[in-house]
Amino acid sequence: MRNDNVQNVRVDYQQLLRDAMDTARRLPARGRPADYIPALAAADPEAFGMALATVDGEVHGVGDWEHPFSIQSVSKLFTVALALAEGGDGIWQRVGREPSGNPFNSLVQLESEQGIPRNPFINAGALVATDRLLELTGDAAGTVRDFLRAESGNRLIATDDGVASSEARHGHRNAALAHFIASYGNLRNPVDSVLAHYYAHCAISASCRDLALAGLFLARHGLRTDGSRLLTRSEAKRVNAVLLTCGTYDAAGEFAFRVGLPGKSGVGGGVLAVLPGRGAVCVWSPGLDAAGNSVLGVAALDALTTATGWSVF
Ligand code: GLU
Repeated sequence: MRNDNVQNVRVDYQQLLRDAMDTARRLPARGRPADYIPALAAADPEAFGMALATVDGEVHGVGDWEHPFSIQSVSKLFTVALALAEGGDGIWQRVGREPSGNPFNSLVQLESEQGIPRNPFINAGALVATDRLLELTGDAAGTVRDFLRAESGNRLIATDDGVASSEARHGHRNAALAHFIASYGNLRNPVDSVLAHYYAHCAISASCRDLALAGLFLARHGLRTDGSRLLTRSEAKRVNAVLLTCGTYDAAGEFAFRVGLPGKSGVGGGVLAVLPGRGAVCVWSPGLDAAGNSVLGVAALDALTTATGWSVF
């Protein structure tokens, strides 16, 4: 079904999701779950869920759409949005908004760029956003968790402590990044607190349903579920823009090419994409490609936007 066909008729969201899931599941390649955080390696490579929440209040899902998974870097979208909401655009003095052209956990640019990470979605930039949110609220991970709970209505959303401590035990690179940033004076809190909050928000467990609902504020140009304003229209536009250019690791060009939406992926296999003015869609499948994006997740989003024309282009 193409865009022109779905404009004025009642859209069968459930069927669209089912078609996207079936297309993705027919792929021979599945990718592999992340194993550099040992607690993630146990994820079922066959799991697949997809949910779509609309700005009109409809929620639809297929497969394991209500099954909680480790949201990992999808949390970075919320961290930066909440840091903006709490503290305004001062965050952009401390983190850039250009693609890095490097892996998400790379150290190399930080030295030549004086401890200012390229964007808030690589690990270095997310550590700065976490530090900013911690400075503003006193509880960065709790602020992210509470926002997810409020927007999804799911009070059970919480950090999986096993995943957080697995990350901390194997987090030498993140610790190196945080210390390096601190050496340039770009952290305001102790490195250990910033890392603990960073691991805790990455290790939040939530489902496709929860994340699609929580991502709706970006589709509503900054408005929360209760109608209050989280971000100005301009701030929401900017977060969407950085998601489009930097939200899917070093494959954001490929994601824009195939899916054509602002989106954020995580190594738990989740991808949250924004349909501005229309809704938010989250897909989860733990098998990752070489860039760290969910193989079936990207394929399903590609199928959905190709069938409907729902891209920003
Ligand atoms: N917590 C993970 C890490 O720091 C997040 C990685 C990701 O999802 O991109 O390595």
